[in-house]
Amino acid sequence: MSMIVAFVGLGNMGGPMAANLVRAGHRVRGHDLVAAAVDAAAVAGVEPSSSAPGAVTDADLVITMLPAGRHVLDLYDDILGAARPGTLFVDCSTIDVADARTAHERAVASGMRALDAPVSGGVVGAEAATLTFMAGGGEAEFAEALPLLEAMGKKAVHCGEAGAGQAAKICNNMILGVSMIAVSEAFVLGESLGLSHQALYDVASTASGQCWALSVNCPVPGPVPASPANRDYRPGFAASLMAKDLGLATNAVRSGEVHAELGLRAAELYAAYAKGAGATEDFSGIIRTIREKSGEKA
Ligand code: NAD
Repeated sequence: MSMIVAFVGLGNMGGPMAANLVRAGHRVRGHDLVAAAVDAAAVAGVEPSSSAPGAVTDADLVITMLPAGRHVLDLYDDILGAARPGTLFVDCSTIDVADARTAHERAVASGMRALDAPVSGGVVGAEAATLTFMAGGGEAEFAEALPLLEAMGKKAVHCGEAGAGQAAKICNNMILGVSMIAVSEAFVLGESLGLSHQALYDVASTASGQCWALSVNCPVPGPVPASPANRDYRPGFAASLMAKDLGLATNAVRSGEVHAELGLRAAELYAAYAKGAGATEDFSGIIRTIREKSGEKA
């Protein structure tokens, strides 16, 4: 069924996601603070809207794809009063679990309904409509959003109530950040022991060390030809986004008083790496920092 969708935040992710909704036959009213982002989306058939409240007035559903929680909450304050009562607000941004729950509460207090539905899959997934969505909110809200999520992605998982999508996203990325550091340290240790990259890969990728950081995004060139290590660590999944997600995980770890030493340490290491050498690199490039600190030239 064709819907009228308001889409706010037409950046690297939101632009192609909105374009995929147009491709699936929906009318999409798009808004962004940056005119060039609106212009690019218009080429793909998104109807430009000069204000966010203007975009949502007659929308069946509102999607937001913004940088951080404060942007989502500020925007919700601007637009919740402008939509039709009962409109479903789907936030696909990656934000703090606490902010996501606040966004849900504000939506409901304004007579609206809400779903948090962050994504994994990056810009490539946004363009190819192969994103994975992790959703938090009611069953009915998830069912209503599902056809749109399926037009923008290949998989959507209903993870639980308000904030559960964001919770799943940061827990998954905490595993990923810690495991990439572990895999990188193991390769550097192997180098110092005279073990070839290929030998360690051949063993660990079929043994108990197997994980995505090793077998898909392998941090050394060679064993996995498509991994960013083979193209001088061009992303891929940018280190800055890993640092952001681990920062969100840190907030949740601290507020939940969870004992997560490796998660917190990974957040520190990625924050430092993303500020320095890793500013424009894939997150697997952290192996170079580990090698440098080890005094290795390999
Ligand atoms: P981006 O910076 O390219 O896009 C965000 C857009 O939001 C910008 O165009 C900005 O102008 C716009 N914006 C900000 N405030 C606004 C407002 N009040 N009204 C209208 N527009 C506003 O970022 P992105 O890479 O598209 O990421 C968006 C979200 O998706 C982030 O939360 C990010 O963590 C998450 N994410 C990104 C990736 C990725 O690979 N880029 C992957 C997974 C998740």
